[in-house]
Amino acid sequence: MLTYLESRYLLTIYREGAITEHVKPSKIAELFNVKTPTSISILQGLVLKGYVAYTPRVGVKLTTEGSIYVMNLLHKHRVLECFLHDILGFTKEEAHEESSRIDFFVSDKFSESLCRLLNTPEYCPCGFRILHGH
Ligand SMILES: [Zn+2]
Ligand SMILES: [Zn+2]
Repeated sequence: MLTYLESRYLLTIYREGAITEHVKPSKIAELFNVKTPTSISILQGLVLKGYVAYTPRVGVKLTTEGSIYVMNLLHKHRVLECFLHDILGFTKEEAHEESSRIDFFVSDKFSESLCRLLNTPEYCPCGFRILHGH
């Protein structure tokens, strides 16, 4: 099981490096406004859990398991954004912020049901494509 913070680390590694490029722990520390040893200890936890691969002096990247996790989390995040924006009338920014607070906590059943209720949207309000694995 992952923690909420670990899920934010995985998203950040994905955003910074996509799936092929390595990201330096110091870069991640900078983005989270923490010292590098702090980011390294969280990254080590993610390595142990099998979501991240670390190459000394090169950096980290997502494993296959890590990228599958991120794809599922992004589906939740973007479907929630659609709901908040299209149905509840949140602005794009508000929808992104609110979704970032809750995406980690909702089940696949919830996000997939919500997705179908919204007619399987193709794009989130920010314009990113939504990939549907269900
Ligand atoms: Zn979005
Ligand atoms: Zn979907």
